[in-house]
Amino acid sequence: MQRRHFLIRPPALALGAVAAPSLALAAPAVITRDSRILPREGKGPRIVICGGGWGGLTAARYLRELIPQADVVLLERNASFWSGPMSNKWLVDIVNTDFVNRDMLRPANRYGYKLLQTEVIGFERDQKLVRTAHGLIEYDFLILSGGIRNAYDAWFGNDQRAIDYTRTHFPSAYIPNQEMLALKQKLQDFKGGTMVMTLPPPPHRCPPSPYERACLIAWHIKKHKIPGKVLILDPKPKIAPIGVGYKQAFEELYPDIITHVPNARVQEVDPFNKRIKTAAGDFQFDDAILMPPHQAADMVWHAGLIGKDAAGKPTGWADMHPRLYHAHGDDRVYFVGDLMGPISDQFGHYPKSGHVANYVGKIVARNIAQRVAGQEVTPLLPDNLCYMMVNGDPQEEISVKFEYEVDPTGKVIQTQIDMDVRTSDLVKEDFAWIQGKFHDFLAL
Ligand SMILES: Cc1cc2nc3c(=O)[nH]c(=O)nc-3n(C[C@H](O)[C@H](O)[C@H](O)COP(=O)(O)OP(=O)(O)OC[C@H]3O[C@@H](n4cnc5c(N)ncnc54)[C@H](O)[C@@H]3O)c2cc1C
Repeated sequence: MQRRHFLIRPPALALGAVAAPSLALAAPAVITRDSRILPREGKGPRIVICGGGWGGLTAARYLRELIPQADVVLLERNASFWSGPMSNKWLVDIVNTDFVNRDMLRPANRYGYKLLQTEVIGFERDQKLVRTAHGLIEYDFLILSGGIRNAYDAWFGNDQRAIDYTRTHFPSAYIPNQEMLALKQKLQDFKGGTMVMTLPPPPHRCPPSPYERACLIAWHIKKHKIPGKVLILDPKPKIAPIGVGYKQAFEELYPDIITHVPNARVQEVDPFNKRIKTAAGDFQFDDAILMPPHQAADMVWHAGLIGKDAAGKPTGWADMHPRLYHAHGDDRVYFVGDLMGPISDQFGHYPKSGHVANYVGKIVARNIAQRVAGQEVTPLLPDNLCYMMVNGDPQEEISVKFEYEVDPTGKVIQTQIDMDVRTSDLVKEDFAWIQGKFHDFLAL
């Protein structure tokens, strides 16, 4: 066997049962990374979706429904789905693991798309090919929905030792992977002292959720009478969104536990000696959740579709049409979810939320269906809604809603509505919201 050849067993466990009988993977015992896998089926277009999270799973379902003749392929590195929404509650045992960790074969089988567990490692866009760890896959339309990556290089340059140490000892736990489990274990082991949380600068994944995490960790500390404190180092000048609701929760529920430090943009991190230098002063910590800046997932960088600012520097996010969601330089490539680029100079990015990823997943499926049918694409806007738990006993939440419209000049305008009063009614709404979403894209 040559160096770049490897054995592939038919990955029965990783593939939707619908796809299994027709797989090319089942035939040859040895294939190369440059082999073309998953031959097309039927006469319809082949649509490949990279990333099976909130956005990708939604797009897969609606593409199958709106273009019944389409050959829809979903590529995902994880064996199962992990939800960001509700994961803060899971960290402190308000919901159990089965609530946030779900089967992906179920929706693949129910809706009839192919699901392959693999790593997307590159693209040959001139030939409309996705490069995966298992081989090359052809597409007519491509959707990138890989979420975010942690930009540790903003703190450490190329010091891989510092990056690895930070990732393993002070996990950010903002991406569906092992870090979620590591952070839960960290909280269970926490015996006291100062737990620092660095918040990423905007735009970042789910803007209100780091404050929710701070509240629920503080609630956990209070409940278990741990002599601990939470120190939030926030690069923003004030808490946002739902600033009033969070400030009241910090002051009324956790006055001796939570300290919020505004304008604390991180300047230097020394993970080995547990020291952080910020624009608001220097801090020592006993334990930490170190959240570096967020950027679009690696796949957008691999596709060469990251935007550039006026000075020619990468923006870190997809270079896309703000109303149609396809790449500026390639209208066969669409973006869904947190990796999307800026929408409007009034508010910048859509909130990087599961709600928006789910909404845009449907819009993009509809846009592709209109193109396949030879119709004109009519632009649509999402909305956003986020519920945040601030108290575990009694359970109480606050929330924020964002609405969008187009002004007479064609610019998208955002209206933000904060629900600052914490109530148990919002907890009921939150659980109804997540059940509705899971029903929508996980077939639950
Ligand atoms: C703590 C926390 C709380 C949150 N609370 C809320 C909330 O209350 N409400 C809300 O709406 N949103 C919330 N969010 C945000 C929400 O999780 C994200 O906005 C949402 O997951 C974005 O969807 P996505 O599809 O863009 O990314 P993801 O859901 O992250 O999916 C991306 C998928 O792509 C896969 N992937 C990435 N790269 C590759 C590759 N190279 N090859 C193969 N697969 C790849 C990943 O494994 C992942 O499964 C929260 C997030 C966190 C972390």
